[in-house]
Amino acid sequence: MRYRVRIFAAILLLVLASSALAQQRAIKPGFNLFSKEQDIQMGREYAAQIERQMPVVRNAELDAYLQRIGRKLASQPEAGNYPYTFKLVRDKNINAFALPGGPTFVHTGLIAAAETEAQLAGVMAHEIAHVALRHGTNQASKAQLIQLPAMLAGSLLGDSGSLAGTLAQIGIGLGANSVLLKYSRNAERDADLLGARMMSRAGYNPIEMARFFEKLQAETGKGNAFTSFLSDHPNPGDRVKAVQEEIRYLPRNKYTADTGELPRIQKSIQGLPEPPKPRGQSRNTGNPDPAASRPSGRFKQFQGREVAFQYPDNWEVHGEPGSDQVTVAPVSAVFGQQLGYALIVSFSEMPRNTDLRAGTEQLLKQLQKENPSMKVTQTARRTEVNKYQGMVTRLESDSPYTGAREVDLVVTLDRPGGLFFLVFIAPDKEYPAVQRTFEQILQSVRFAN
Ligand SMILES: [Zn+2]
Repeated sequence: MRYRVRIFAAILLLVLASSALAQQRAIKPGFNLFSKEQDIQMGREYAAQIERQMPVVRNAELDAYLQRIGRKLASQPEAGNYPYTFKLVRDKNINAFALPGGPTFVHTGLIAAAETEAQLAGVMAHEIAHVALRHGTNQASKAQLIQLPAMLAGSLLGDSGSLAGTLAQIGIGLGANSVLLKYSRNAERDADLLGARMMSRAGYNPIEMARFFEKLQAETGKGNAFTSFLSDHPNPGDRVKAVQEEIRYLPRNKYTADTGELPRIQKSIQGLPEPPKPRGQSRNTGNPDPAASRPSGRFKQFQGREVAFQYPDNWEVHGEPGSDQVTVAPVSAVFGQQLGYALIVSFSEMPRNTDLRAGTEQLLKQLQKENPSMKVTQTARRTEVNKYQGMVTRLESDSPYTGAREVDLVVTLDRPGGLFFLVFIAPDKEYPAVQRTFEQILQSVRFAN
């Protein structure tokens, strides 16, 4: 009799457990051409660049606080076994980002905007979930199905020292709209749910994460320009409801992880030296030293479908694979910062019956419309690049580097398919030092046909 009761109880438990499992969706990494080791290697390379070029805060108190929250989350099974690191970046934008393999960066603006420690932990858990689910390299894999396998095999064999450099050749980097950091709505939903499980286990109330994202959404609606988190992490909709449903399947937990230190930490952040003022339309307040971004004088090769050229080996290729515009810039150009130092390479359709001069004038008008501070300081003169007729125009405009002017050198080439152009951008004080580098890049341009 007792025996039978026990069997009945066991069956009941099984039924209950399986119905709970049926509701709690398994969340796993998707298709991926990269190995986990490559995620980690790539993340390390990008993190080293970011730390050289972005204003990383070195403050023992703030650092200890961030590590404490990060460790609590990263030690949960949902985080996978990645070598997470947590760094604070001085930036007013309410944002955070995590690179493949674990390096996680939190903006001071995020800490300032959080109402509770659990909200801050929520954004971090969400970022950690993107790492554990390998969303960055999953998206890169899907975008570059044809070229990647061979390139990654090559880098495994050690032909290439830098994985980031290998990826840059096919247009994968950390720039605005990078496939590595701008996620799909499905990825967002998964990161919310996995992040919620991670938070719960670490002792934070998961609903705080969803509430914070909804708050950001509302702020965007009110015109707050600092909610850049949402442009990389698009709202999958009904976040609070989805997380509430998830919580029903989580073990009952007392949420006791909050240290109550957030107000003190927020005060310390206010006490940090004032970052340089943003200029113009730039939403980014980080303002690195232009000299740190100066081209190295050593070159890497960009190999696109239609065009190949050399570019400074301490710059990165930004932009979406397959698009007809490539931006090569220091890694500090991440996240919509205006470009103070860059090379833009692009094709534009030229209407029929338009000659090089007229096409160039149209392009200059377009550029001036986008940036009204741009003035021609040296009118177009003829040049020749690799047998193609071209024109060089020198313009100047306000630089995103505080108080500086910049030189914008526009080179247009008459190509059978339309107008091909390069824009070299440098702070005016830096320009004499890099003029020769720009000349070398220009002479390295080769076309596929
Ligand atoms: Zn996200």
